[in-house]
Amino acid sequence: MREPTLRFLGGVREIGGNKIILEDGPDRVLFDFGPAFDPKYESFYVDFLKPRSTSPVRDLLEFELLPWIDGLYAKEALGGIEERYTDPAFHAVFVSHAHADHAGYLRFVDPAIPVYTSEGTRKILVANSTTGPTLKYGEHPWELLRPGSPVKVGNLEILPFPVDHSVPYATGFVVRTSEGAVVYTGDFREHGPRAALTRTFLEAAKAEGPKALLLEGTRAGPDPRKNLSEAGVRAALDTLLAATRGLALVSCYPRDVDRIRTLHEAARDSGRTLVVPAKTAFLLGALKGDASLPLPQPGVDPNLLVYERSKKKLYNWEKPLLDGAVGAEEVRRRGRELLLLLDLYQFPELIDIRPEPGTPFVHSMSEPFSEEDVKDAVLKNWLGHFDLRPHQFHASGHCSGPELEAICGEVGATNLFPIHTEHPEAFHDFPGRFCPPEKGVTYRVSTGEALT
Ligand SMILES: [Zn+2]
Repeated sequence: MREPTLRFLGGVREIGGNKIILEDGPDRVLFDFGPAFDPKYESFYVDFLKPRSTSPVRDLLEFELLPWIDGLYAKEALGGIEERYTDPAFHAVFVSHAHADHAGYLRFVDPAIPVYTSEGTRKILVANSTTGPTLKYGEHPWELLRPGSPVKVGNLEILPFPVDHSVPYATGFVVRTSEGAVVYTGDFREHGPRAALTRTFLEAAKAEGPKALLLEGTRAGPDPRKNLSEAGVRAALDTLLAATRGLALVSCYPRDVDRIRTLHEAARDSGRTLVVPAKTAFLLGALKGDASLPLPQPGVDPNLLVYERSKKKLYNWEKPLLDGAVGAEEVRRRGRELLLLLDLYQFPELIDIRPEPGTPFVHSMSEPFSEEDVKDAVLKNWLGHFDLRPHQFHASGHCSGPELEAICGEVGATNLFPIHTEHPEAFHDFPGRFCPPEKGVTYRVSTGEALT
């Protein structure tokens, strides 16, 4: 009987792209499967230069943008290398949350392998694939996790706990192996509206006396970016909207529904209506009915309207949402009454809206990672052209470095594996044995040592 081991095929010295294999005797599961936010990807594929739809896995393997994993890939995804197909060798894939860097490669997974995730994450993935023609996750037996309710996979016992992150319904995991517990945080934070969930998860993790803690460290190391709490974002918006006489513009991540809720409440309390893209309205509708996450509903809430873009073809999913929608002309006319949520990709609408010079634009998402960020340069060009006044109000989806250190002390795991970070060295002096993983190497859960 082989002892429990961990192997990291992504999320190693990079943000995102977690691909973590946990094996214990005959049982083998994968945690998360998505692309990293990897500059290397853009060395080979950029804009419309993409892996071919007939051989996506082969075209990514060519440049080591995807690892080869025996018994994981779907036969249909292995165009051009069908001979490498083997029967499924995984009992399950567990998906921590609905961001691309954790779920984006599920479409390559053998359809016979079950995918476990929270009900809310599943709803977001379904909404994504309805409104985003390129967002597909493949056909799988989908198994829905219930908070705190253990799942048996062979001899492994997996306990899912909801955690707070910048997309709702994120999950952290405690896995009971034959030699003690492994804790996998997924992506999480302690300063959001559902921080209490993160607390419950960490307390449950500590109670296991875990052998290994797999801790995401997006914000570990140098972190010059400004970060507010969600309440801080709200307060900053309140001040800005109170001082603004005309239209106000804002951008945020499309699935950060906490932020959309904050924007909606700030708009309502300043006598405005939040105007959202049809995609956002569709997601709000898809997540309707959770008493713990009350979201304004299009067509129902008096302070929520849908923006109708200028376009030739309407999708079936958006048609019902456009009843009563507002276009550029109405936004221009009713400026003072509105807060318009506008994605960068919809900026050409500004040509019709013609905002007054000095109109505030709130960038309610992460500041760019680098000075050379092309999208940031483009954004600045648009802001400059229309003489919009930029503001940066954002609450990150991730814990700060000091919070991560405190969490290591609190959970008290024997071995600490820093993942989902560009700065694993920042964890060096944190409590627990420092085990920075190398890509593709197998580690003992019990000691954190590499198997040779
Ligand atoms: Zn991530």
